[in-house]
Amino acid sequence: MSGQAKQETPARGRPTRVEIAAQHRLRELLREYFLDLDAAAKDPRRRVAWCTSVGPCEILVAMGFATAFPENHGALLGVRRLSHRFIPYAVSAGYCAESCSYMNADIGAALAGQSPLRDSYGIDGPPRPDLLVYSTNQCREVQDWFSFFGRRHGVPVLGVRPPRQLGAVTAAHVAFVRGELLRLIEQIEAHFGLKLDMGRLEETVALSSRASALWREVLETARARPAPFSFWDGVIHMAPVILLRGSPAAVAYYELLLAEMRQRVREGVGAVPGERFRIYWEGMPVWPRIRELSEKFFELRAAVVASTYCNSWAFEPYAGGDPLEWMARTSIEIFINRDEPTKEAFLVELFERFGVDGVIFHNARTCPNNSNSRFGMPARLREQRGLPVLVIDGDLSDQRFFSTAQTLTNVEAFCEQLEQIQAGPQPRLPANPRAATAANVAGGPA
Ligand code: SF4
Repeated sequence: MSGQAKQETPARGRPTRVEIAAQHRLRELLREYFLDLDAAAKDPRRRVAWCTSVGPCEILVAMGFATAFPENHGALLGVRRLSHRFIPYAVSAGYCAESCSYMNADIGAALAGQSPLRDSYGIDGPPRPDLLVYSTNQCREVQDWFSFFGRRHGVPVLGVRPPRQLGAVTAAHVAFVRGELLRLIEQIEAHFGLKLDMGRLEETVALSSRASALWREVLETARARPAPFSFWDGVIHMAPVILLRGSPAAVAYYELLLAEMRQRVREGVGAVPGERFRIYWEGMPVWPRIRELSEKFFELRAAVVASTYCNSWAFEPYAGGDPLEWMARTSIEIFINRDEPTKEAFLVELFERFGVDGVIFHNARTCPNNSNSRFGMPARLREQRGLPVLVIDGDLSDQRFFSTAQTLTNVEAFCEQLEQIQAGPQPRLPANPRAATAANVAGGPA
């Protein structure tokens, strides 16, 4: 990795952003991935499986399927601000407008016969699947989403339905999910006349775990001050740990990215030059407004140093042994599948480890599953930890549920609150974390 110039923080005016050099490799990698998916769908000798983002993709990879992840297409539709154009097609087909906007936008885009993959990579859209495999470890919506495409393409839809909202993960839970995975393998073998090679599955799981461990190390570099890496970088650079799980390419990519982040730490290069505040982001990204939000935080010199979302693919490492047991355990240990006390303990640990000054909860209108601000958690954490908390209302993909102006104003007011706290003793916090507007903001431990 070539050295980077020490970062300048101008006393006045806009700070200079230092681009992450690995992003050039990321672009190539994604191009190769999508072109290969397209080629696989057109090649009668190859098979394509769609999988949910924390589903059992290692089994599919080990059985030779090219794997596609519809949630990625949902996010892409959001980033390109296309979701609100396609969601009405899904609504016309009977899907509730307030159901998952990834699902509705993806179904709507298929009904409209359009995809941003055409502009990006010159391909028609997501590859035609031979098989769809979901896990309800994240939500039940994925089952209905995949069922739509199963009917549309006349292909099997197979699923794993683990126990949900777990506190402690027990051996009985793991054994149950392992059994579901074995049943899934048998169904795939029977339908396609295949035989899973367990040695190949072990190799795939080892690669998947290695990429995940490197990704976790990348995220950990943001404990440094200044943080070399922010949430806004994370939502881009996490693509390989989802799309290319189980591949040597994902491992190589995260080795490259980690080396660059460590170099940044050594040289004092921050994602936000002159970092003043360190923020935790809880919940989904607001994909259609990523640019505005990241620019506002940058301008305020607020680094979003950690997030639940980017940690969702930082699994516990595989230490050899039964790969199905590792898959079963990691699939139910994920944050979204845990109960409220376990989630709170996880968040508190991250707040402390990353030294955050404040927390932002994103209440995503169409994803109750990944919104943790609906049952008092922000107020409880604020009272327990004395950390300022802001809740913003929005959505992951449907921009109609997000007010950019109001949110940016609230973020500004929130950073003023953090500034007041840094300046000295403060009055009590406002009773409602949603009410952190410029007019009434107050800071300090309750
Ligand atoms: S977790 Fe939320 S965003 Fe993801 S598929 Fe389920 S409902 Fe949609």
